[in-house]
Amino acid sequence: MYTAKYGASIRKLVDKAILAKRTKYECPKCHKLKVARKGNALWACKSCEAVFAGGAYSFKSEAGEIAARIINEYSKSS
Ligand SMILES: [Zn+2]
Repeated sequence: MYTAKYGASIRKLVDKAILAKRTKYECPKCHKLKVARKGNALWACKSCEAVFAGGAYSFKSEAGEIAARIINEYSKSS
């Protein structure tokens, strides 16, 4: 298993990222717990084969949530 070499706090961050990367997420399309990381920021559902762009190491990133909120507000106003 990959670990960072120096610093306990950095190792904790790496462990958290790897855990988020390996966890399966709920698919927004078919609502099954089948979304797995396919590549960097690329997430695919093993059930309905939908592909999503997400965070690099977790399905939803903080920046992604902000972007989604802004897009949602723009689509409401138009
Ligand atoms: Zn799905």
